[in-house]
Amino acid sequence: MPRESYVHGHSGAPLIGKTIGALLDDVSATDGAREALVVAHQNVRWTYAELKSRSDAFASGLLALGLEPGDRVGIWSPNCAEWTIAQFATAKAGLILVNINPAYRIGELEHVLRAVGCRALITAARFKSSDYIAMIRELVPELGRGSGELHSPRLPDLRHVISIVGKPDGCLAFDRVMEQGRQAGSGRLESVAAAIQIDDAVNIQFTSGTTGLPKGATLSHHNLINNAFFVGEATGIEPGSRVCIPVPLYHCFGMVMGNLGCVTHAATMVYPSEAFDPLKTLRAVEAERCDVLYGVPTMFIAQLNQAEFSSFNLSSLRRGIMAGAPCPIEVMKEVASSMHMSEITIAYGMTETSPVSFQSSRDDPLELRVSTVGRIQPHLEAKIVDRDGRIVPRGEAGELCTRGYSVMLGYWNDEARTREAVDAAGWMHTGDLATIDDAGYCRIVGRIKDMVIRGGENIYPREVEEYLYQHPDVQDVQVFGVPDAKYGEELCAWIVSRPGAAIDEESVRTFCQGRISHYKVPRYIRFVESFPSTVTGKVQKFAMREAMIEEFARAAKVSA
Ligand code: AMP
Repeated sequence: MPRESYVHGHSGAPLIGKTIGALLDDVSATDGAREALVVAHQNVRWTYAELKSRSDAFASGLLALGLEPGDRVGIWSPNCAEWTIAQFATAKAGLILVNINPAYRIGELEHVLRAVGCRALITAARFKSSDYIAMIRELVPELGRGSGELHSPRLPDLRHVISIVGKPDGCLAFDRVMEQGRQAGSGRLESVAAAIQIDDAVNIQFTSGTTGLPKGATLSHHNLINNAFFVGEATGIEPGSRVCIPVPLYHCFGMVMGNLGCVTHAATMVYPSEAFDPLKTLRAVEAERCDVLYGVPTMFIAQLNQAEFSSFNLSSLRRGIMAGAPCPIEVMKEVASSMHMSEITIAYGMTETSPVSFQSSRDDPLELRVSTVGRIQPHLEAKIVDRDGRIVPRGEAGELCTRGYSVMLGYWNDEARTREAVDAAGWMHTGDLATIDDAGYCRIVGRIKDMVIRGGENIYPREVEEYLYQHPDVQDVQVFGVPDAKYGEELCAWIVSRPGAAIDEESVRTFCQGRISHYKVPRYIRFVESFPSTVTGKVQKFAMREAMIEEFARAAKVSA
């Protein structure tokens, strides 16, 4: 009998049964003088005692505004110290923080605020081409018109807008809320905090949109604290580690694996910039002597390709995580050698599971570390199932399902979509295609809808991408399927070539000829500057597919 594709992560370390508020209290009691947060662009350098004092003051200030445990508080801002204060303050005050993508525009903002009924919104002033205050005013023209709390028919739940910078008309200043909290004292906060349960909701994250409309994944203290702790363990974060976090805080990579990963280990969070910037990241690693660096694959690729790359002293680096999207083997190898990250790991997960389910070990052989997403995380289970929901034998591809403490409470107010994602037995259906081998290593081979079927042959784009990455002139590549009258689907590759490289379609084809099966050689090859992607670096293949379909339609018109 072949073994079934089912794994369980057993561990000597028990799950943590603590709230996030209690966690920060405990760390500041034991490690109060240790550096907690460094924000390069704000000149912030706070110890754990300082972070706790600010978070507690802001938490008391939110309660003094009349917010009640269970209320939703939105945060719409790129990375900054106030984001982190808001994260810990809302958790301690029993409020539910709602992460809002800083790239959102009015329509999306309205959707999110309405979907979860935010009572308060904490906002940045502006970032890049986004004037947040102007957009909020357009949505809520009542802001600043009357005195006292806000009342708007369009957003009936919203009462307060808190501005991180300055005090625009009608908004409360972030610092003032903190000051009022200090004056109010901690009595009310401590009694609210004592009543919070580990399974209470603490955070809503809207999933990033590679899979249809954004849904509000609702996560508990227990979900987040435990995932952060066990990911930190696997990454090798230690007390005093300095973790460079260039990934956005509004995504679980930043706020859970980053922030909470540090706090569960009394490590230092280092933010290089408001939003990802390769040079500023390299600068922060060097200046802060970071030993741990996080990023999605495209972020590592961008750093490696900076003209000034070799001028940085990155010798403090050792560990880190590459995650969020398929991590190309060649890039992993280069990061391990050129960036000194010999212990880098790959993590796999999704927002709905807090996020990480699989992670490689620092001491896995490099070959396994770069070609798989590692083994199941402690206390979690995973299985691979076929289209009928039956577990497949080891090594066979199917849909990856995960179960355990990490599975979200549900999509906010959306029982039907929650049921579609999490079945009655508690399994989260990830929508990702994967295999699990005999030793328990998992390989993500595509998303269910990513798989290309060309004339009956199943092609996993990931495999072709890995091959094309080996071409010396290929900097980045995405492979996807496009409709085809004869074969049903044909393969298409979009390639970002290395600066100055003389690469053309012919040379790519020659590179493939005889080395990979003919049906895996992309029929269409296009050279592009960059890929359409979400802010977290998740490449949107559907947008590339649409662009190709338009190109075919234009060509058909010309030849008609
Ligand atoms: P998100 O909820 O935004 O974190 O997106 C989750 C999705 O990202 C997963 O369902 C996967 O499709 C993809 N993903 C995350 N990590 C990896 C990884 N290490 N390798 C391949 N795909 C990944």
